[in-house]
Amino acid sequence: MPIQNVVVAGGGVLGSQIAYQTALHDFKVTLYDLSSESLQQAQERIKVLFPDYHHDLGLSQADFDRHLANLSYTTGLETAVADADLVIEAIPEKLTIKEAFYQQLSKLAPEKTIFASNSSSLLPSQLVGYTDRPDRYLHLHFANHIWSRNTAEVMGTKDTDPKIFAEIVNFASAIGMIPVPLHKEQPGYVLNAMLIPWLNSALILWAKGVTDPLTIDRTWMKDLEAPVGPFGILDIIGLRTHYNIVKNMADKTDNADLQLAAAKMKERIDANKLGPSTGEGFYHWPNPAFLSPDFLK
Ligand code: NAD
Repeated sequence: MPIQNVVVAGGGVLGSQIAYQTALHDFKVTLYDLSSESLQQAQERIKVLFPDYHHDLGLSQADFDRHLANLSYTTGLETAVADADLVIEAIPEKLTIKEAFYQQLSKLAPEKTIFASNSSSLLPSQLVGYTDRPDRYLHLHFANHIWSRNTAEVMGTKDTDPKIFAEIVNFASAIGMIPVPLHKEQPGYVLNAMLIPWLNSALILWAKGVTDPLTIDRTWMKDLEAPVGPFGILDIIGLRTHYNIVKNMADKTDNADLQLAAAKMKERIDANKLGPSTGEGFYHWPNPAFLSPDFLK
């Protein structure tokens, strides 16, 4: 039986987007969260997705609303999963929380249910041991703004059944994603495995005093004909988010260059230069210099 009934666990930033995107493609979706307040917030988050779906995909209000009928909301995991073909887990990125969730889910879900985690930084092999079904466990990783940044990275463990892996790749296509299958476990999946070292290389050039951020961006943009450089991207991601990654890596690896990069970022963060959210990061927002036609002259 192909996948029909989908449960999304956790209706936060990503869970609410995953739930609506799946409902839009005519799957029956149950959104499960811990409290009625969280579910209320999830419903609000979904409602305010309309302008983006309209702007980016041309969806009309009537179409948007019609697909809301494919969604239901519950705080009861047992009833939510009673006939679930797939559970997509989007609960907080904390091992202890996910551990307790998978242990409970394993007791309640029928044998047929596939478990897929949207975890950004944990590997499937770190979580699979908390489930009762290694062959039906894998990761399905979406990006924030799922409707337009519509890649879905699919990564299993050595124990994931290849048929289940293929089924999830097909499911990703069926909900409007471009599937990105990974055939080995890889921290950061495909995108972050490339993006994070690239951003860190740029930060280290700056932190060591080799040259300034705008010169680094100009060099990248000019010579690769790219629309944005690493410091433009760092602003868009938000300095705090990337700082946490760099600091964590620096502490784990004792890498002096990364420590230096983290310290330089911290100075900016302490000065409230966080990116577009505070009007300034490495650039001034909403009109950053790299968008100006003169930037590369
Ligand atoms: P969030 O904090 O916005 O939302 C988490 C939701 O889970 C909340 O609604 C919370 O009430 C609920 N929750 C907490 N414990 C729960 C439990 N035991 N059972 C059910 N619901 C529970 O988090 P988020 O940013 O949406 O991230 C969720 C997951 O998605 C994480 O694993 C994260 O790594 C991943 N992710 C996040 C992004 C992003 O840009 N935010 C991008 C890709 C992947």
